[in-house]
Amino acid sequence: GVRRQANARAEVLLAAGAVNSPQLLELSGVGDGALLRQFNIPVIADSPAVGRALQDHLAVSYFFRSRVPTLNDQLAPFLGKVRAALRYALGRRGPLAMSVNQAGAFLRSRSELTRPNLHIYFNPASYSTTTAGPRRRLMNPDPYPGFLMSYNTCRPMSRGSIHIRSSDPLMSPAIVPNSLATDADVRDVYDGARVVRRIAAAAPLAEVTEAEREPGPGMQSDPDVLADFRRRAGTVFHPCGTCAMGADPRTSVVDPRLRVHGVTGLRVVDASIFPNITSGNLNCPTIMVAEKAADLILEDSSGPVA
Ligand SMILES: Cc1cc2nc3c(=O)[nH]c(=O)nc-3n(C[C@H](O)[C@H](O)[C@H](O)COP(=O)(O)OP(=O)(O)OC[C@H]3O[C@@H](n4cnc5c(N)ncnc54)[C@H](O)[C@@H]3O)c2cc1C
Repeated sequence: GVRRQANARAEVLLAAGAVNSPQLLELSGVGDGALLRQFNIPVIADSPAVGRALQDHLAVSYFFRSRVPTLNDQLAPFLGKVRAALRYALGRRGPLAMSVNQAGAFLRSRSELTRPNLHIYFNPASYSTTTAGPRRRLMNPDPYPGFLMSYNTCRPMSRGSIHIRSSDPLMSPAIVPNSLATDADVRDVYDGARVVRRIAAAAPLAEVTEAEREPGPGMQSDPDVLADFRRRAGTVFHPCGTCAMGADPRTSVVDPRLRVHGVTGLRVVDASIFPNITSGNLNCPTIMVAEKAADLILEDSSGPVA
């Protein structure tokens, strides 16, 4: 390729997301000095927190057969898919115009907790998104009435990492989620299973629930629930924390004004700066980070950029 150089007049904003922002920092010489030297990358700033503190929401779905029709009945048959696609294309109506999760809850699974520790999702359709093999199967609703409930820990305590494996920018970084590394996170797995099953067994849902299909009523003990979670759980795509904000350069990557510690004229503005993952979905909080960053940049700028 051709090497090109671009110079910024004011400052550089890095907003490549929680996976690629730490990767780009490390490739550029901002990261753990020992790691960078391993790949012969000149160290601009020895910043050991880059790529650390990866957090994410890890969820599992519980599948139920229903006694009454659900969206499966509309979306599983081929003709139903065609009808739904036409309704959406012609009038922006029908099942494809709806959010996939029709109900949800943030709740405390234990009375001593002061804030919700579980996020529950309810979906009037059942389908699998986790499949073996290198390619994800397209979501296809089950060919019978069904629904699903999912849950994840709101504030996981486990911390993973994202680091470069090479100085080649085209090589993907190593992502180590390190999920379920703390007792608290494991306990929430047990609690989540109990809560989901309690909801399914309570009126009015109990009246329309025929049976729990997966993991199935046989999976009741804590070890079984955990083994099932480890086997089937997946990310809900909320990685963050890999360029965490904080005052201490040894434990954080950007300062409270989102400026990279030890580097002038460089900010990170994306979900990677979250010191702790938010309880809910990340899109809105990330937009809030961007809005705040815009204010900070204007405050810090000495005047209009020529
Ligand atoms: C499948 C999926 C579903 C989701 N659903 C929801 C949801 O329902 N609700 C919700 O709140 N959140 C949801 N999220 C999470 C939400 O989208 C993210 O948390 C949010 O987009 C994070 O914003 P960001 O700016 O940090 O990163 P991103 O939105 O990922 O933006 C980073 C950008 O940088 C670009 N980039 C990366 N590397 C380079 C490079 N080297 N050069 C140039 N450009 C680069 C990327 O292409 C991307 O456009 C979902 C995420 C996914 C993946």
